[in-house]
Amino acid sequence: MKKTLLLTTGIVTLLASCQFKGNDKYDADSIDSNAFEAIEEASLVKNITALSSDEFLGRKPFTKGDTLTVNYIENEFKSLALSPGNGDSYFQEVPMVSIKSTPNESKLTFSGKSSTFSINYLDDYVIGSKRLQEDIAVEDSELVFVGFGIVAPEFEWNDYKDLDVKGKTVVAMVSDPGKYNNNLFKADTMTYYGRWTYKFEEAARQGAAGVILIHDTDAASYAWNVVRSGWTGPQLNLESQTDQTKTTEFEGWITAQTTDKLFALAGKSTSLIDKAKKPGFKAIPLDVKVSVNLTNEIIKSSSNNVIATLKGSKRPEEVIIYTAHWDHLGVGEAVDGDSIYNGAIDNAAGISALFEIAKAFKAAKVQPERSIAFLAVTSEEEGLLGSSYYTEHPIYPLAKTVANLNMDAFSPLGETSDVSIVGIGQTEIEDYVERSATKLGRAVKGESNPSSGGFFRSDHFNFVKVGVPGLFMGSGTELLSTDTVTNKIRKEALVGRYHSVHDEVDENWNFAGIIADIRLFFDIGYTMSMEKTFPNFKPKSEFKEISDNRLSK
Ligand SMILES: [Zn+2]
Repeated sequence: MKKTLLLTTGIVTLLASCQFKGNDKYDADSIDSNAFEAIEEASLVKNITALSSDEFLGRKPFTKGDTLTVNYIENEFKSLALSPGNGDSYFQEVPMVSIKSTPNESKLTFSGKSSTFSINYLDDYVIGSKRLQEDIAVEDSELVFVGFGIVAPEFEWNDYKDLDVKGKTVVAMVSDPGKYNNNLFKADTMTYYGRWTYKFEEAARQGAAGVILIHDTDAASYAWNVVRSGWTGPQLNLESQTDQTKTTEFEGWITAQTTDKLFALAGKSTSLIDKAKKPGFKAIPLDVKVSVNLTNEIIKSSSNNVIATLKGSKRPEEVIIYTAHWDHLGVGEAVDGDSIYNGAIDNAAGISALFEIAKAFKAAKVQPERSIAFLAVTSEEEGLLGSSYYTEHPIYPLAKTVANLNMDAFSPLGETSDVSIVGIGQTEIEDYVERSATKLGRAVKGESNPSSGGFFRSDHFNFVKVGVPGLFMGSGTELLSTDTVTNKIRKEALVGRYHSVHDEVDENWNFAGIIADIRLFFDIGYTMSMEKTFPNFKPKSEFKEISDNRLSK
């Protein structure tokens, strides 16, 4: 008797709670506790640890680590009961080419009028080619110093003015003039003209044979080892980016010391670099020649984006896309006996965050009215290729794509009282960030280093380029903990890990701040999923026009 009664009561309670669930009202000013509690540290750490383990071999596209990773993500999406995001598949195939360029001789020789000097591969220079040609042979190409190598009519700047660089090799500086003069460009906020990818694209448009970029740790915002490891081994590309209108015969970088020697060989002062930062600079032939001979090993293959969706309850055709790149650098040069670039923070953390956010949406008392897509993209590290392919071949129409919320790396230093938007001032998504951050007691700030061009350096930028507002947000800098000893230990446990073999889970890392950031990311997307309006770019954004065109389609 008693047992039956209990059982009956149990069922009644269950039914009642179901009904109550249906009556729950969405409230934009409060937090959905069910959803927030679904975002858990244990599962987050479990997934980060698994995806960044040596077994996954640094998650390089085209390798065994690729297969393991995309299968892991698909399984996780399935076990979270998310629908396949691409018809009945969780995969979007991304056709690519892998090119491994090797210099035929490890020394590269510059010949001046009366003398020559040679530099060593990797220590002094890196080089490669994106052309679908097995042999690259550029003989005695003349070097021209083109300053920043920028053509920007809206800023009245043209480093290629009256210049013919066909068959020549341009030597260019990274960053843009605003970095050195607040009255130029967008002051210390880097424009796309400052990105090294832009320098290569522009040189190809100008018909140059090759490009050599001058590395400068401050202007590039990363040290030589990052260039060196990034340019070692096979490089991936979308096939559409390999023809001669898109890329010169070779592309490379030289160190700052090499640059000094090069200018000395040319009989020029390095003060030319300072002149190039000022308006009115004219490109200068260096009277130096270089020959570049490379062998390209070309493999055509494909990798995959992995995508899942949660259908919106009222406006399912409108979609908010969360992205995180699943790839990392793979296996490279051994450092202290370790050759696997595990990529725990970059970006096993972002992929694991996708899973937690999916759990939160599933657990929300009121289901999202718009659809939510979870897109794990391939080949970010090789130049944002997976997201570039997605935006060239969107599964959900761009006109109905509300926003892209991108997660690329999180800080394991602990909770912060602030949150930082990379490329602040670009989109109205910032209003959502403000609203959600306020709810959670956090202040919104711009990035600490706007001159690093972070806004152009992760997958949301491909959405931005086609007019979909994208958010790239990171932890702030104001740690809540006043325990200076622990804070110091945590900071030290992070130094030098970016793009190194040491980006692996560390016992000194703290995940509370990452959980807080993921909850913020969830709340922003959740709030947006209940709205009927589309966030746009801000009036001064260079992408507003293209976005308006997208919405009017
Ligand atoms: Zn990353």
